[in-house]
Amino acid sequence: MSCYNFITRFLHRNKIDAEDIIENEMPPSDTEVVSSLRRLLEEKNRELKLKEETISLLEKELDDKDSTIKHLHNEIDKFRQVVRPITQRIITKQICLDGQCWQVPTEVPEEDEEEAQSTNETRTKRQAVSAAPPLAGEQLQIKKIPKTQRSRELIKSAILDNDFMKNLEVTQIKEIVDCMYPEEYKTGSIIIREGDVGSTVYVLEEGCVEVSRENKFLSTLTPGKVLGELAILYNCKRTATIKAATDCKLWAIERQCFQTIMMRTGLIRQAEYTDFLKSVPIFKDLPEDTLIKISDVLEETFYANGDYIIRQGARGDTFFIISKGTVKVTMKMPNSNEEKFIRTLGKGDFFGEKALQGDDLRTANIIVDDPDGVSALVIDRETFNQLISNLDEIKSKYKDEVLDRRRLDQEFENVTLSDLKILTTLGVGGFGRVELVQIHGRPSKSYALKQMKKAQIVETRQQQHIMSEKEIMGEANCDFIVKLYKTFKDERYLYMLMESCLGGELWTVLRDRTHFDDATTRFYTACVVEAFDYLHSRNIIYRDLKPENLLLDNQGYVKLVDFGFAKKLQTGRKTWTFCGTPEYVAPEVILNKGHDISADYWSLGVLMFELLTGAPPFAGTDPMKTYNIILKGIDAIDFPRNITRNAMVLIKKLCRDNPAERLGYQKGGISDIRKHKWFDGFNWEGLVNRTLTPPILPKVESVTDTSNFDKYPVDEDGPPPEDTSGWDSAF
Ligand code: AMP
Repeated sequence: MSCYNFITRFLHRNKIDAEDIIENEMPPSDTEVVSSLRRLLEEKNRELKLKEETISLLEKELDDKDSTIKHLHNEIDKFRQVVRPITQRIITKQICLDGQCWQVPTEVPEEDEEEAQSTNETRTKRQAVSAAPPLAGEQLQIKKIPKTQRSRELIKSAILDNDFMKNLEVTQIKEIVDCMYPEEYKTGSIIIREGDVGSTVYVLEEGCVEVSRENKFLSTLTPGKVLGELAILYNCKRTATIKAATDCKLWAIERQCFQTIMMRTGLIRQAEYTDFLKSVPIFKDLPEDTLIKISDVLEETFYANGDYIIRQGARGDTFFIISKGTVKVTMKMPNSNEEKFIRTLGKGDFFGEKALQGDDLRTANIIVDDPDGVSALVIDRETFNQLISNLDEIKSKYKDEVLDRRRLDQEFENVTLSDLKILTTLGVGGFGRVELVQIHGRPSKSYALKQMKKAQIVETRQQQHIMSEKEIMGEANCDFIVKLYKTFKDERYLYMLMESCLGGELWTVLRDRTHFDDATTRFYTACVVEAFDYLHSRNIIYRDLKPENLLLDNQGYVKLVDFGFAKKLQTGRKTWTFCGTPEYVAPEVILNKGHDISADYWSLGVLMFELLTGAPPFAGTDPMKTYNIILKGIDAIDFPRNITRNAMVLIKKLCRDNPAERLGYQKGGISDIRKHKWFDGFNWEGLVNRTLTPPILPKVESVTDTSNFDKYPVDEDGPPPEDTSGWDSAF
């Protein structure tokens, strides 16, 4: 092929018009073609360069616009934190804590919440909720209401059809059915009114009802449905109106009764199992709290008549205690096929205990010998070994702390309120402002002064909450917990003088950065692990972990703040009050099963997920939806790809449905978390000694620099009323 032909084809294939180059009819010489091509190439190069320049200019413009948008988003978010938009309605929500209820103002955005949540464009700080604990002691009496078998079946199937209530245990559902009482409503009457505070849950037996929100019809419900179930957990505002469309018959139950049932069944079960365990030789010398832990992991299993629970010669690692029915023990004699009857075992008897000590060869047959079958409490060797350890290991490493704390308190012994100079507002809490202050004569230091309006505390009946916060924070002496130095009071306010953390809230940092990488998350999680270690080794449960309650100190280390829900538990005991922030509460809290420090490990898993992705794993458009997502468990959650495998494994180990299986709660204690693969190579010693460089270094230029905090407008409310009733004498 000639050079001319080749070039013509080349130009054709590349859609270049040969006429542009070849103007003559005569075929040009090769040199002419080459120089024309060179010219063309140069021209194209120039064009390309020009386009590249335009692209890079546009890219820069895009980047600038992106960062302006981001900046504006942040500003809007900040603005939303401090100024309540006109479009937001204020409702009062009744919250109960430790038997006392109060109304708190709550913002309800008018924008479509669902959309706001799903796009996750705006982040608002989450509110904690808490319910009254069930009544104790002899008040635990609950009244059974007779009803027909048909009604019983209808209530039961309505409960089993409800996403939340179907998770309750069979015995609990039975008791709820027993206790529901009848109510009748005439056509047109209101059963549940939107905006009211509710404490009753209903099952519709006859008639039909209409559901509406803001006067807009939503749906019609027919018999066999549960109505208003969020009220069973804590006092909450009804989010819709339910009106009788025909004459209706309903069954109702009050929250207090529901919680009593839940607590009672849990307590009875725990006491029964613990008693069983005490009768077993290998358990009898174990401390009560270990027995309680074991009783929590016992699983009740049913076997039908004639079933072999254990077969001689087989290997097994499970131990059984009979809770109902009888079994026979038989043995095959050497050189014989015949099974010899040895004895009968009944309720409270046990078998297979050698398996727990490592001997897994079964030496006899255990066969169900009861027409009604047998129920047995079962535990396997691994679970048993995870729980049994020397519980005396309760830390001695903090033995010097009482002295340290005393030294600290002495430093503030002579400080009075009039020594404090208020500089600016750091934040606004439920009862008033937190101000940055300095003590006269100590210009090199600054402090946070939390001021709480006494009248508002009394009005909302939060006295107990405040006293518990003061007590736990006042005694704590840990680098990962905000220190409370001194408290003051006058006629109008209670004051808490705390160390100031000028790095701002972790919540704000997360909001601005959208999410953190693995290493950053590891550092903050580790700080929380240290704080939890301190609290849990003193049997204090925190109950309100979330980025909103983590403050950065000047160095960038994180400290836990806001101890309103913290509680000191008796060894081995649980607590039953619904407490926490919806996205962070553990399933046993939602199901009223009683909870302890293991609930904090659940929330630690949730925190890790939120820090890594910017959003918590369990989040619905309303609290009940969130609770139902939580009850479906962590395995139903999609992990985004930016969560590494090791982080995912740890989150899943922390967020186990069964509290006893959570990492941190087993015999290795919280150190099991420290030893997890995700923390491999992490410098724990450096963290505790504060030699480790934090991943984000806050800019704090002086002890009075508050640039890491949102700005708060001045308080125009004027002074609150006086309260001199004296309830705060211990404050
Ligand atoms: P609280 O009433 O405890 O929820 O605090 C309200 C807000 O005040 C918090 O969200 C923080 O932004 C700020 N704040 C509370 N305690 C401190 C502290 N020790 N140092 C700095 N800021 C604080």
